Amino acid sequence: MRKVYILRDKEEDGSVLDAMEAQGLCTEEEDIENPACPVCGSPTMLAFTEGDEFQVVTWESLEDDDCSEADGWYLVCSSFTCEYEEPIERTLSPMDATLFDLHSSFWHFDEASGINGNPPDDLQELIRYLEDLLKEGPNRKLECFRDEAEWRRDREWERVREWLNIVPAGRKVQFYLEGEPHTATFLMATDDQLLVVTRPQGEMLAISTGSITFYGPHFFDPNKPDPPDEDEAAKFRSGNLILITGWRERAVIGGYHLSLVHVDRFDQYHVSTSDPEAAQALGMKARGENHWEGCFRRSAVEARYDERRMVKVRGHWLQVWGVSNKDRDPAVKSEDPEVAAELGLKPVRSWSENDRPEEERTIVHWSGVIPMDQIEEEKQVRTYHWPIPELEMSDQG
Ligand SMILES: [Zn+2]
Repeated sequence: MRKVYILRDKEEDGSVLDAMEAQGLCTEEEDIENPACPVCGSPTMLAFTEGDEFQVVTWESLEDDDCSEADGWYLVCSSFTCEYEEPIERTLSPMDATLFDLHSSFWHFDEASGINGNPPDDLQELIRYLEDLLKEGPNRKLECFRDEAEWRRDREWERVREWLNIVPAGRKVQFYLEGEPHTATFLMATDDQLLVVTRPQGEMLAISTGSITFYGPHFFDPNKPDPPDEDEAAKFRSGNLILITGWRERAVIGGYHLSLVHVDRFDQYHVSTSDPEAAQALGMKARGENHWEGCFRRSAVEARYDERRMVKVRGHWLQVWGVSNKDRDPAVKSEDPEVAAELGLKPVRSWSENDRPEEERTIVHWSGVIPMDQIEEEKQVRTYHWPIPELEMSDQG
């Protein structure tokens, strides 16, 4: 029986990298491929049984709770009409095992079935199609897909009806219909249909309740009129855009300080540099003029730190999170209400509380753009992930 190892979201002990290298597999996370169906060539999916229940894993990551009672594991074909099913042994040791990535199988299945994020009407179509296939005989994979589609259809129905219940007549709403964004004035809704007048065209539309997605807003302030319809693109062009600079992440390898691009799920450090000496010494690959890239295991990395730009304004040190598009003035933030008041910074409120009036939402911090001529001093501040600064101090001391 073929042994299958299910990749975890984060593989940090290096055993998966060892297994991939031993099997001659590429260790780039975007190149992971699940086994293809030996019958039709479609990507496979993972499934398990718990007693009489058969469950295809249509989701992205498997928690222990999801399959604690599992008594059998299988590979099945993602194609609805292919009957391939192979019993496998699930192993917790990656060496010599077939590696299986649930992110890939989730995305592939979602693309093929549209089961995630589609409106109830589309899910109903899928259910009807699966029911037709099931008329030809029992099929536990298709029954599982159908049950999931039904569950998602019912949940989406419930959500859209809950939303329609809170929309007052005459208010501005936004939604997607057949993949296109729409803005409209809401008139009324029944169980099956909603009636709106499109903006700015002014057409009256009766739309199936089960056909819309990404609808909102989710809060209507009775004391505030709807924001005006404006050309968002024009607003975008005319405004002083802030380019987010955030902070620079750095990794030290072989004594060289490199830019850290990202850490992948196998705990490999992807780094870049414009220093030819560092590139040569570490065997990094040229990816452009004066630009080299490399990928290293965690064990090769001596230190990791973040480097933030700070500016001093009227005696206060502030963290820079961006620069203005026009004049390259620093955009700063502060969590101190007194500093914010003194410098005229504006509150930035929590994005996750968009079902409440704006002035009631939690202030995360204050933010504003400071003209360069008001900057008294600048510095770069390092925050170490490791080694922790105290240890470094004593090493140097
Ligand atoms: Zn197949």
